[in-house]
Amino acid sequence: MKTIGLLGGMSWESSIEYERLINELVRERLGGLHSADLVIRSYDFHEIETLQAAGDWEIAGQLLAEDAQRLEWAGAELIVLCTNTMHKVAPAIEAALSVPFVHLADATAEAVKTAGVDRVALFGTRFTMEEPFYRERLESQGLVVDVPDPGEQTMINRVIYDELVQGRIESESRTAYVEVAERMLGSGAQGVIAGCTEIELLIGPDDIDGAFFPTTRIHAEAAVAAALAV
Ligand code: GLU
Repeated sequence: MKTIGLLGGMSWESSIEYERLINELVRERLGGLHSADLVIRSYDFHEIETLQAAGDWEIAGQLLAEDAQRLEWAGAELIVLCTNTMHKVAPAIEAALSVPFVHLADATAEAVKTAGVDRVALFGTRFTMEEPFYRERLESQGLVVDVPDPGEQTMINRVIYDELVQGRIESESRTAYVEVAERMLGSGAQGVIAGCTEIELLIGPDDIDGAFFPTTRIHAEAAVAAALAV
């Protein structure tokens, strides 16, 4: 089993889910007393969000790239960045590494295609929904990606930063997310990507009438598959 390096804390509400899911998946696959072999760098999310809000992506990329390299020096044989949004700086991280980087958008595209879905709604932070770095990565793999309307994007982004990353799960927000999902599913999308690692804390497959793609689980599964590949 390979050692997995996690860049987490973005936010910790979802990276503890990564840690739990990865350990559970290793136990399912290997049984007995097996658990995952992990090295973790968990950030103070306030510092990350400050860089995002200021548009300091180059500094954020350098920070994450240096820490990914430190995880490699600490024994990581593959690297997992536990946030969709910060994949905006994935190229800087990949350039610094000599071990594989398990890209979240690639793992998600694979899961969507495996489910037989080719048109999908993308929920995430405003960066993930508005900017091309994530959507185009999905589109380059043959998917049609719909993003919510501007007003819906504002609501989805607000719930992420004002509630989910702060550990608040509000039923009105669940209803608001489901309404957007249902509208988009009624307009041609066949499924919804929970393209922010905290969204699956709020809504799940039973909440919507279409395919649901939880990126934390999908990414954890891809990481364990890579760690256990012979
Ligand atoms: N965890 C989130 C994501 O998957 C948002 C927090 C962040 O901005 O990194 O995009």
